[in-house]
Amino acid sequence: MAFDIEMIKKVYEQFPSRVEAARKLVGKPLTLTEKILYAHLWEGLATQVQQRGKSYVDFAPDRVAMQDATAQMALLQFMQAGRPTVALPSTVHCDHLIQAETGATQDLAKAKSQNKEVYDFLASVSDKYGIGFWKPGAGIIHQVVLESYAFPGGLMIGTDSHTVNAGGLGMVAIGVGGADACDVMAGLAWELKFPKLIGVKLTGKLSGWTSAKDVILKVAGILTVKGGTGAIVEYFGDGAESISCTGKGTICNMGAEIGATTSVFGYDKKMADYLNGTGREMIAKLADNISEHLTGDAEVYSSPEKYFDQVIEINLSELEPHINGPFTPDLAFPISKFAAAVKENNWPAQLEVGLIGSCTNSSYEDISRSASVANQAVEMGLNAKSEFTITPGSELVRFTIERDGYLDTFGKMGGVVLANACGPCIGQWARHTSDPTKKNSIITSFNRNFAKRNDGNPNTHSFVASPEIVTALAIAGDLTFNPLTDYLTNSRGEKIKLAEPKGIEMPLKGFAVEDAGYQAPAKDGSSVVVKVDANSDRLQLLDAFNAWEGTDLHNLKLLIKAKGKCTTDHISMAGPWLKYRGHLDNISNNMLIGALNFFNEKTNSVKNQLTGVYDEVPKVQRAYKAAGIGSIVVGDENYGEGSSREHAAMEPRFLGVRAVLVKSFARIHETNLKKQGMLALTFSNTADYDKIKEDDSIDIIGLKSFTPGVPLTLELNHANGSKDEITVNHTYNAQQIEWFKSGGALNIIRMAQV
Ligand code: SF4
Repeated sequence: MAFDIEMIKKVYEQFPSRVEAARKLVGKPLTLTEKILYAHLWEGLATQVQQRGKSYVDFAPDRVAMQDATAQMALLQFMQAGRPTVALPSTVHCDHLIQAETGATQDLAKAKSQNKEVYDFLASVSDKYGIGFWKPGAGIIHQVVLESYAFPGGLMIGTDSHTVNAGGLGMVAIGVGGADACDVMAGLAWELKFPKLIGVKLTGKLSGWTSAKDVILKVAGILTVKGGTGAIVEYFGDGAESISCTGKGTICNMGAEIGATTSVFGYDKKMADYLNGTGREMIAKLADNISEHLTGDAEVYSSPEKYFDQVIEINLSELEPHINGPFTPDLAFPISKFAAAVKENNWPAQLEVGLIGSCTNSSYEDISRSASVANQAVEMGLNAKSEFTITPGSELVRFTIERDGYLDTFGKMGGVVLANACGPCIGQWARHTSDPTKKNSIITSFNRNFAKRNDGNPNTHSFVASPEIVTALAIAGDLTFNPLTDYLTNSRGEKIKLAEPKGIEMPLKGFAVEDAGYQAPAKDGSSVVVKVDANSDRLQLLDAFNAWEGTDLHNLKLLIKAKGKCTTDHISMAGPWLKYRGHLDNISNNMLIGALNFFNEKTNSVKNQLTGVYDEVPKVQRAYKAAGIGSIVVGDENYGEGSSREHAAMEPRFLGVRAVLVKSFARIHETNLKKQGMLALTFSNTADYDKIKEDDSIDIIGLKSFTPGVPLTLELNHANGSKDEITVNHTYNAQQIEWFKSGGALNIIRMAQV
């Protein structure tokens, strides 16, 4: 599982001089976020400083982490780049595909059999290209990364939104789409708009029932699910230094729920303790040597309002435990107000299941605090009234907490230990319920609680709290129970008040594990064969897309003129389609099936211009492809908003759509289209959207002199013989025009390898 110490040494060698140069150029003290970002610029500090806030800046990340669901397409694409190995340390983690049903052993065995072809592919592709592979059961990506790979001052990207967890160990860690991961592994820069900065000053000290989770539950209440959009949240102050490293991880992890790009804490003693406790003394020593650079400048933290776009202050000594939900993580209640809210809103007070763990909250500290609560129940004759599950974040944690007796304690309380995997947190939960139509309540120590997130049931009211509060409420079986003030009655009829939880940050006997579940890649992977069954319906090797034919594009059929919102979900739906993420042909059968056709106000119903018959969008497009005819998709404002899902760009490319013409793009989707060798165009005059008719054949003129900043022309050939000519804009730079001409960015990388 070796972390790459040489890479970290290199980062730390350059860090101070880069930070000092940036400070001089910017002409003011720097936040930690700025230091890390400036230290990881791809090139040209001066230019990038000028670009700050205006445009996208190129960065050079240190690591890539991928979870199994998103890694499939990222790695299938990476194979197209023709590189012998990945350009930077990268890992794959098998955590999302394991369904929780009975308990760890049985569930893991079932997942290994059901997902064998996916695991075999990921293991072999990792082996071949120098990627560390964490087997199913090894743990959840973010917990494993925190334990093994995160380091203060580093920059990491990961194909999962909770990649941000590594901010707890002082890393700027950001969730991205598979296309970005692929490019970075292939040796390209990674671009990000320089974020806004939100400072959160923590004073005081956590105590009693209050834990790190309550900090982020409180912040979510203040900032709401949108408040962190486009911003990096930086925590500082005495209070920050008093929180354990894993507690910091919890806070950063759930920063995804306020829409933040990421969150980060400065390097401190707690981080050094965690590095030392997890066998990374060398990193702690290196970090100690440059510690002043691994935190924000003193002037910034003493006058934060001058340096952050927004500042929030929280006194940890006054912070109450919180419970957030249902259906949104920003509906925050201090526990003293929660019972009244339950009654007022008529939320089901009976608590059916309490679930602790996940990548957010399964540290040794979390588990020991929860176990101290569970132990009281066991010793005082209290039977847990709700079902109770424990999801360890990694095998390292699971093995250690088993050795130290905590799993035994949970077992005595009636708890069921689930696999070290995402399980109920991502809806991989075969929940036992007699009546799914009944309104019901569950509480978790996870992060997301949108409708249907955990069990797919819209009637489930899911609340989020710290693991110790979840444990106490599961014992009570009652959502209105407040362990700080209320009493329970045990089997002997005695009134019991639970004592405050007690935790241990780091195991006194150290962490231990027999088999962490890591598979190192082959030293020379050149002879390793990537395993993909030719008959698989879940995986398919990709073929390179064709290069541009060198002419203007003529006779493109209008596939669909989408009306209104058209997000990546409308373009490439999730849900049952997720299982085809590694099979471009199969997943393309969901292309644009959620988009509303302007002409008939229906979804997944467009006119096949060859037959005049209405049919499903992918079927019509496949008919055009079979006839060797290109097509064009027309859309409205902010087309492609939502996620960075690359399938939304790959599917139209694969099925033969040549251009997407819209009023405006969501930027990531626009870039994804460019990367796939598509034409991403915008109306110069948005009113021209109305000129597009259902039976149009469209020519795109000017491609032979395709130049940055120069618009193209579209000729709309209407069915009645009339024509319209419109001007369309694009944002292709010289490099992106080469992507178009070569048939996609990966074709260029591959050609450069030859
Ligand atoms: S445990 Fe939940 S939040 Fe964490 S990676 Fe898995 S699905 Fe995402």
